Amino acid sequence: MRDKNFLVENNAKPIWHPMAHPAEMRAQPPRIIMKGEGVHVTDIDGRTVLDAVGGLWNVNLGYSCDPIKKAITDQLDALPYYSGFRGASTGPSIELAYELTEWFKPEGMVRAFFTSGGSDSVESALRLARQYWKIKGQADRTKFLALKKGYHGTHFGGASVNGNANFRRNYEPLLPGVFHIPAPWTYRNPFNETDPIKLAQLCAAAMEDEITFQGADTIAAFIMEPVLGAGGVIVPPDNFMKLAREICDRHGILMISDEVVTGFGRTGAWSGSRLWGVKPDMMTIAKAITSGYFPLGATLIGEKIAEAFEADTTSFSSIGHGYTYSGHPVGCAAGVAALAETRRLKLDENAAARGKDLADALAQLKARHPSVGDVRSKGLMAAIELVADRDSKKPADKKTMAKVADATYEAGVMVRVSGNNIILSPPLILTSADVTRMAEGISAGLSAAS
Ligand code: PMP
Repeated sequence: MRDKNFLVENNAKPIWHPMAHPAEMRAQPPRIIMKGEGVHVTDIDGRTVLDAVGGLWNVNLGYSCDPIKKAITDQLDALPYYSGFRGASTGPSIELAYELTEWFKPEGMVRAFFTSGGSDSVESALRLARQYWKIKGQADRTKFLALKKGYHGTHFGGASVNGNANFRRNYEPLLPGVFHIPAPWTYRNPFNETDPIKLAQLCAAAMEDEITFQGADTIAAFIMEPVLGAGGVIVPPDNFMKLAREICDRHGILMISDEVVTGFGRTGAWSGSRLWGVKPDMMTIAKAITSGYFPLGATLIGEKIAEAFEADTTSFSSIGHGYTYSGHPVGCAAGVAALAETRRLKLDENAAARGKDLADALAQLKARHPSVGDVRSKGLMAAIELVADRDSKKPADKKTMAKVADATYEAGVMVRVSGNNIILSPPLILTSADVTRMAEGISAGLSAAS
């Protein structure tokens, strides 16, 4: 690699960064991260901080997982790439598909369709849902239902089911036939309902109302994140996903659980569906599938859909969909190793235990800092929502958010800002002492910015 001067000189110049304004990035170049070890990352100036972002919700095993690194290098030596298109397969893809279908058996998943990441997984699920209904002779079922505030990646399909205008407006017109219902979010909702159980019922009623209005026999699938991540870690009330499942069943609508963030223990359960006791028809996974060490994702297929495709002999059931990197052998080898480590270290249990520590720490932050309007968490995914004042709940502005993030970094903790939320998704190998350090850093950041 070229030297530090070259990297600093060219930072944010020949590159456009995702989810950023190119000119703003030039004016305020991003930190260049050079090294990772355990739960820490080190920037180009040699400054080491605790990574409370966990890469991007994905580095569950931290940065020093030797078994994944070895699996990747061994596979690179043996076979760096081969396609999984009809007529060929590879060892790691077969092994990982086997592991995933075993792992997600309680959710009813029986097949894995590999992708290159979360957006691909969502796109695949939406397309396979439409195809399922064609196989079933119900070609009118083409529409999708989703939650406002939901995040499902940035492909046209994913952006269409996305429930946040920031990811939609510049790319419209999006897919027609997509409808959104209110998210069950107690802090802000159109019903002004603060009781979680009642709110879940109101949102479920809105869902049922939209289905009746559209005509159930025109709707292919409902997609939701079991815990809404990028939308601000919105934790649905305990009864919501079950209610949504019942509504889907009543109207014959497929349920897609987008588990790109919640998939491998982050909430304290192995999946978000398992957390809420729901069996979806498909699951989308990515991110922690390799702990971020290699780009990979998968759409997992439930029994009902698998049977329909596999029993049908018409041309409808041939999968005319896939990616050059579907089942990439290096990614799948990384996935097998990441799964084994995740299981061995019981990261779900650690996420649940450290999640309790984190929830306590967040409550203290809220008590201490008036700029904190709300704190939300499940396991080791959390949001600290900042407001200009608590009564009006007016969101904190962009400048304040950047100031808090910078001051927190100065205090030794990397956090991510999304809208007026500080988002936390640290590696799941976190210790209690790390939680304390994280909270202290954020507290210092909040004080410095107030
Ligand atoms: N779905 C969810 C729930 C996500 O959080 C994300 C990414 N944050 C995606 C889909 C898209 O994944 P990717 O960025 O890997 O395409």
